[in-house]
Amino acid sequence: MAGLNLKGIYKRYPGGVTAVGDFNLDIEDKEFIVLVGPSGCGKSTTLRMIAGLEDISEGELYIDDKLMNETPPKDRDIAMVFQNYALYPHMTVFDNMAFGLKLRKMPKEQIKQRVTEAARILDIEHLLDRKPKALSGGQRQRVALGRAIVREPKVFLMDEPLSNLDAKLRGQMRAEINKLHKRLQTTFIYVTHDQTEAMTMGSRIVVMKDGIIQQIDSPQVLYDNPVNMFVGGFIGSPTMDFVDGTLEKKEDGVYFTFGKASVKFPDGRASKIIDKGYIGKQVVMGVRSENIRDEEVYLSSAPTSVVDAHVEVTELMGSETLLHLTIEGASFIAKVDPRSTAKAGDDIKVAFDMNRVHLFDKE
Ligand code: ADP
Repeated sequence: MAGLNLKGIYKRYPGGVTAVGDFNLDIEDKEFIVLVGPSGCGKSTTLRMIAGLEDISEGELYIDDKLMNETPPKDRDIAMVFQNYALYPHMTVFDNMAFGLKLRKMPKEQIKQRVTEAARILDIEHLLDRKPKALSGGQRQRVALGRAIVREPKVFLMDEPLSNLDAKLRGQMRAEINKLHKRLQTTFIYVTHDQTEAMTMGSRIVVMKDGIIQQIDSPQVLYDNPVNMFVGGFIGSPTMDFVDGTLEKKEDGVYFTFGKASVKFPDGRASKIIDKGYIGKQVVMGVRSENIRDEEVYLSSAPTSVVDAHVEVTELMGSETLLHLTIEGASFIAKVDPRSTAKAGDDIKVAFDMNRVHLFDKE
């Protein structure tokens, strides 16, 4: 059991790369926290500093309120699971899982008990005598998890542990790791570049870009209230679409104008926009696909949010249809009812849900 505090942490590599800058995060005991961001944004470096595999250039790392900056990895009571599993090919599954415990000179009986228990949790008891080459990718990943579990660490660090698995198995293993977290009641820190993985796994998600934390929130808050265009565009599938425009106050209310289109905000939201002093400002409107509709019921209920759209492509997904639209030269994706009759090449009307669109400062 352990809480972690990362205070003003920097990692500067020789040659002038600041891989992580001013990283501040308090992780509660038993929390499942996910670091997410595009490749190269500093996720692995952060994890490796927590593990003690990289020096911290500046700042402080506390585990259970103890300063750990100079503590060697083996004394941090942390287990790390890597993308490539790093199993020993010549050893059986049992020996792979037991290896770290043997090094620690744990009594044989206790080792057997821990390995058997971990194998039971991971449903790999029947594989204990096999060598890694006789295992599937998913089974190897379980062994790698098992090797971490037997150590009963205070903190589990996982660096893209599922990226070598196919999509279906990844989905299954996501659920397994969630279950494992509930079962072990330990702190998990999980790194991924995949926003779906982050959204389905973490209780809190840390979104990073260029070594800097952009936002730390629960999956739902990240989705509903992204703090900037980067987070809005990174989280969600399909991602948010953006269009530049101006906020204007007209006689009957507040409008967002882009090209020849002008869409009106509901009164409650309009007064907030006025209060924040946004009128007259150049801003960016971010729209999620479920907030653009083509059904008649939406068009007639909010006529002031209706615009002309050209359908470029349609994608039938079964439970919904995606319309790839051009509106005043900007591209949008609308997620509509699968019974929609819109087809590629059509000129149609769509309505924005003006309560749900996002406004961002121009970056
Ligand atoms: P991520 O895990 O998000 O893909 P990394 O933490 O691996 O990102 O890398 C962050 C940045 O630090 C990248 O720009 C990367 O090129 C740089 N970097 C990583 N390791 C080293 C190193 N040993 N020396 C110099 N630069 C490095």
